[in-house]
Amino acid sequence: MIAVIDRYFDACQHESIPVLKVINPEESFQTWNSELNNPTLSLRDLFSKIIENSTHLHHPGYVGHQVATAHPLSLLSDMVASLLNNGMAVYEMGQVSVAMEKAICERIGRLMGWDHQAGGIFTSGGSLANLTALLAARERYSKGKYWEEGYYQAPDLAVMVSSESHYCISRAAKIMGLGQRGMILLPVNNKFQTDIDQMEACYQAAVERGQEVFAFVANSGSTATGSYDALVPIGEFCKKHNIWLHIDGAHGGAVVFSEHHRVLLQGSSQADSITIDFHKLLQCSILCTSLVFKSIQDSYHTFAQGAQYLFYEPTDEWFQVGKRTFECTKTMMVLKAYTLLHQLGEKALGANVEQQYQLAQDFSDYLIQTGVFKIACPPQSNIVCFRYVPDDVPVEQIDQLNAKIREHLVLEGNYYIVQTTIQGSYYFRTALMNPHTTLAHLKKLAHHIISLKYLIS
Ligand SMILES: *Cc1c(COP(=O)(O)O)cnc(C)c1O
Repeated sequence: MIAVIDRYFDACQHESIPVLKVINPEESFQTWNSELNNPTLSLRDLFSKIIENSTHLHHPGYVGHQVATAHPLSLLSDMVASLLNNGMAVYEMGQVSVAMEKAICERIGRLMGWDHQAGGIFTSGGSLANLTALLAARERYSKGKYWEEGYYQAPDLAVMVSSESHYCISRAAKIMGLGQRGMILLPVNNKFQTDIDQMEACYQAAVERGQEVFAFVANSGSTATGSYDALVPIGEFCKKHNIWLHIDGAHGGAVVFSEHHRVLLQGSSQADSITIDFHKLLQCSILCTSLVFKSIQDSYHTFAQGAQYLFYEPTDEWFQVGKRTFECTKTMMVLKAYTLLHQLGEKALGANVEQQYQLAQDFSDYLIQTGVFKIACPPQSNIVCFRYVPDDVPVEQIDQLNAKIREHLVLEGNYYIVQTTIQGSYYFRTALMNPHTTLAHLKKLAHHIISLKYLIS
């Protein structure tokens, strides 16, 4: 198996395998269903075939979704985690990982500018972390009333969110019974950051409708364009109205480890909680997400059983993490985050973020220089959204041209890029995650896109 993995790394680096070999869903189902019913492959061939038919994030042409190119140490940590299989629901089933979670969350708390009361948990993905944070916010606001009595006589609650927020925020609000009405969508400026000049008016309009705003979700950075909201004015606004500020840093919260880019989180000390995915910019395999609270006390409110939260003495039972996570059995996901921090150090994790952010800047500069590409906005992180706009193609055909080019690129298998719609127009979206992707690869991609103009004629 080690030989198979070794060959895989080698093939990716030398681009001797496609980044992705597109297979239609029916054909893929046929293959794996028939193999299940009539096994023909040896274990070695089974693993090889799985690898061959999957998407290769270690390939330098992988510049698609914002999923980490997992560090080899993450892979090894996962093997240890699977071997031990400590489920973490109760302390005796996870003595090591429970302690590691506390240590890392407290470290993040310090980097956020919070005091010794900060702490948190690891949970299965940014979506679940954001839901967990909003539940904690609501319980603190309502003093447990919602959790116990449901919505029957409840006030009309609402959460303020950027219109660029990840769809999981809308899901969380709806799971919590707030409905669409309970989502106050804030407009964004031309950099896709929450427009701070409109927060107050949106808030007042909600109050006039009879709503009570209990939480604000800020993006650090947003999913489509990687834009960072201005946390200083947002923090002041939340303080003024006594609103819980949650930072959705699933993607860009990783800058907490970068001395150079931590400034993007300026104002974070005023926030109440932050989500950071280690499986995005921090080189861990999925899933690995930290949710850190300014006051660990708040995290005990989230899933309080009975009115127990009232009596909780967090210092007594910090090690029973299962009481504070949605999961009962949970993977030892923290092992990989801990191993990377331990073996590589905070600086190295930060340096990787800096490298990707710089690459995005360089790529964006290059695209502008060519004169035939338009970028959605200057990159604030490792995400670059751009479209090909050659002079001699009619405006109304530009969307179609770009869509055709992407389809062609993905089928060719040298690059994997994704698309997004920005202000009604089709854009390519690249998230630069891979330490092996260089500016030379990206320039080649740009040239290749230009060479595909014929697809429209
Ligand atoms: C990726 C992302 C999420 C969702 O996180 P998962 O780990 O995929 O569940 C939420 N918010 C933002 C801003 C993201 O980029």
